[in-house]
Amino acid sequence: MSVETLKRAFADNLFYTQGKDTSWATRRDYYMALAYTVRDRLFHRFFKTRKRYFAKDVKVVCYLSAEFLMGRHLGNNLINLGIYDRVNEAVRESGLDLGKLIELEHDPGLGNGGLGRLAACFLDSLATLEVPAIGYGIRYEFGIFHQAIKDGWQVEVPDKWLRFGNPWEICRREASVQVKFGGHTETYHDQQGNPRVTWIHDRTVTAIPYDTPVPGYNTNTVNTLRLWRALAGDDFDFQAFNAGDYDGAVASKMSSETISKVLYPNDNTPQGRQLRLEQQFFFASASLQDIIRNHLRLHKNLDALYEGVAIQLNDTHPTVAIAELMRLLIDEHQYYWDKAWYITQKTFAYTNHTLLPEALERWPVSLFESLLPRHLEIIYEINHRFLEDIKTWFPDDEDRLGRMSIIEEFPEKSIRMANLACIGSHAINGVAALHTELLQKHTLRDFAELWPEKFFNKTNGVTPRRWILLSNPKLSELITEKIGDGWLSNLDQLKQLEPFVEDADFRRRWREVKHENKLQLTQYIWKHNSLEVDPHSIFDVQVKRLHEYKRQLLSALNIITLYNRIKENPNADVFPRTFIFGGKAAPGYYMAKLIIKLINAVAEVVNKDPEVHGRLKVAFLANFNVSLGQKIYPAADLSEQISTAGKEASGTGNMKFAMNGALTIGTLDGANIEIREEVGAENFFLFGLTAEEVQSTKVQGYNPMDYYHGNAELKAVIDRIDSGYFSHGNQELFKPIVDSLLHHDQYMLLADYQAYIDCQEKVVEAYKDQERWTKMSILNAARMGKFSSDRTINEYVNEIWKAKPVKVESEEYDSNNAGLNVQP
Ligand SMILES: *Cc1c(COP(=O)(O)O)cnc(C)c1O
Repeated sequence: MSVETLKRAFADNLFYTQGKDTSWATRRDYYMALAYTVRDRLFHRFFKTRKRYFAKDVKVVCYLSAEFLMGRHLGNNLINLGIYDRVNEAVRESGLDLGKLIELEHDPGLGNGGLGRLAACFLDSLATLEVPAIGYGIRYEFGIFHQAIKDGWQVEVPDKWLRFGNPWEICRREASVQVKFGGHTETYHDQQGNPRVTWIHDRTVTAIPYDTPVPGYNTNTVNTLRLWRALAGDDFDFQAFNAGDYDGAVASKMSSETISKVLYPNDNTPQGRQLRLEQQFFFASASLQDIIRNHLRLHKNLDALYEGVAIQLNDTHPTVAIAELMRLLIDEHQYYWDKAWYITQKTFAYTNHTLLPEALERWPVSLFESLLPRHLEIIYEINHRFLEDIKTWFPDDEDRLGRMSIIEEFPEKSIRMANLACIGSHAINGVAALHTELLQKHTLRDFAELWPEKFFNKTNGVTPRRWILLSNPKLSELITEKIGDGWLSNLDQLKQLEPFVEDADFRRRWREVKHENKLQLTQYIWKHNSLEVDPHSIFDVQVKRLHEYKRQLLSALNIITLYNRIKENPNADVFPRTFIFGGKAAPGYYMAKLIIKLINAVAEVVNKDPEVHGRLKVAFLANFNVSLGQKIYPAADLSEQISTAGKEASGTGNMKFAMNGALTIGTLDGANIEIREEVGAENFFLFGLTAEEVQSTKVQGYNPMDYYHGNAELKAVIDRIDSGYFSHGNQELFKPIVDSLLHHDQYMLLADYQAYIDCQEKVVEAYKDQERWTKMSILNAARMGKFSSDRTINEYVNEIWKAKPVKVESEEYDSNNAGLNVQP
């Protein structure tokens, strides 16, 4: 595939596909033409891969996830296809700039944060490891909202990401399936006289698949991301229509189509909305029907379904699939219960993503009954049989039965999706060592006691292709110059960088790369926030969803502490720092939105106070998403991973930062613990209570007031917020924050405050010694091999999915021999 061929294809796509010539093409037309050029190259490997899987009858990993936060496709596809440099050249010779075209792609935000991004990293690693896989999800018409900041407040703007079309997807109308809802059930007797149940539904919705090719890095494998779009079912109400009820018929059509309209913007806080349950069932049912249809193309029945597929549930969102597979097997494929249950359990595995009790999904039984009456019956039957077993294994243990039951009785009769997921799966995993341990000890303790062999830990990872090579080309070039490019498919090879910490010239170049990345971010901040920041200052960064447990507020308390020191003594020794924040708050999460307002209010005061003399700057960057992350992680000096211990399941942002040479200030939470183990305690800024100490402090009775009265500097910080200093004298505005800190402090900011402030001083001491800091930075990056999602996926493949890689042979596309050859 020569530069000449690429140039030619680019021009042809502008002309024939986009329908423009250079005299009136817009920048977006050029982007589209380039995207089609790259897509054409993907398709050959895509079809080859499908044929290969079909011919070999391989086991396919089906990753069910309500969210896939893929990020922009163009740059990543160029990298994985190995044509970045050639396309760069072709675009340059065409008089354009590849970097600018890449920026024109609308970042597809079909996820909230870490969970959705994990699914995207997993698809990249599955294809790279040549594992047959398909991601199933929902093609939301509106992804996560666009965040604007107005007067310091978050404003949500709809994300019309499909407005100009999406060149990376292909609609497969012929593979549509029908998804049923509502109605009631009836029993009858089949020809053998056995009792059977039919579901007399009252509504169907058509699920149309849209496929996005997912290429592996340096392989010929191109897997599929299949996202379902809802369309009014074929039983569109023609009766109403013909009876003259046009409005009614259209309304019912519209309501069916709202199912895939919008992503719920809540992270870690489910809201029991009917439409959300409809979304979950919609994609679970569509995906299962697709899986079964594919299986029956090669097998005469579903007896060995679990040898053909492994279905992974990314959190409980797709868990209704367990009841749906039982229904399909029993009601539609005439299996008896026991056999159906055996197949189901062997097919599913469940990943838990949270320890927050309020984040565990529960659905009111009444909602299930009206929407999925047959599934409710099946869940009751699963529960009945399960509890009978528990009674024999643990006689006279009513409490245990109550805890393990799928049905919760109070305050409202509801279905505990995590319990259903545990009972219906053969494997259950947490996403970091501490998280898995806490699941086994607390959240899922009864299940871990019952089935210890079902529990696994699978510490998260991220793909180094997007998060190092694409995001940080300068660092990648330096690394490759020293150790070759093998690290991109085997991240453990980064270890080979360790000897270079003693090489002063290498350290200087390492620093230069970081400085150039900081300069680029400086320009971004100037452009978007009209704020001048000093690239020689410490770039202290916290970017992630806004959540009280993540404690963005603790970082704000540190900023105000430093500010107070300056106000106390303008000559105080305060090292220059730029505090960079980014992250969206759920639109209904009042406290999180108020924290954004506080950060911006502090920024307004601190950034323009002449006494500060530019030593402290605060920048809240609007609309944090994957593409903004790609600019931020490589420019960070300090990574803030400061959640209350025991609350963050894993974190993956922590990994992206460290891979790009940032040092971490963090608590013993989630994957921070394992990152610290890998990089060495001496290269990690640790502070704060442990998860156990958090627990025991709570049990003993935690009183934040004691800390407030016992710490003059802390008191001055809170008093300054309370005084209205950051709110133009308005003492009401931030009162909810002050009250929450002083009277509840659920996440123990005050208990960790002094340790955090002290630790930040250690950060400054280390930073002042640039050679020492650089060594620590290099060692962090060099020791991050474990946190490649390739390692994570290998573990899932070998220990849970029992799937095998399949090589796809290469076949260079020959455009001179592209005539059809249709077999009659
Ligand atoms: C990695 C990532 C996250 C997860 O960040 P955490 O710090 O682990 O919470 C969230 N959003 C985006 C856009 C990301 O890229």
